[in-house]
Amino acid sequence: MLRRGVLRRCPVCGEGRIFRSLFRLRRACPSCGWVLEREPGTVTGPMYLVSVLTLPFAALLFALLWLFTDWSPGMQVAVGIPVILVFCGVALGAAKGAWAAVEYFTDVRSGDAFREGYRERAFRRDP
Ligand SMILES: [Zn+2]
Repeated sequence: MLRRGVLRRCPVCGEGRIFRSLFRLRRACPSCGWVLEREPGTVTGPMYLVSVLTLPFAALLFALLWLFTDWSPGMQVAVGIPVILVFCGVALGAAKGAWAAVEYFTDVRSGDAFREGYRERAFRRDP
């Protein structure tokens, strides 16, 4: 499920493309109808995850630039900042997909996915 989410596919069916643009999740999977944006604040978890991943990435990147180039600090920042922004964009997409998988996994793990009415609450088609 996590792999499907990171690869921008529906964690439930594995078929539906869950992004309607580079960074925007669909409201529901176009294939099975599983709801991806279940409540306000759904993107908060992925944003925290990207923040946690970006800091060590940036530290490693600037350490490598400092160790293996003779660039001035200004040049290192001019190269490093765009690389970090691209990393954030790629990581945010992967984190949103992974977070959708985690939400589904917790529903299955907690037993919610097997309770009466779950399909009606969790699955619907995009309007
Ligand atoms: Zn699906």
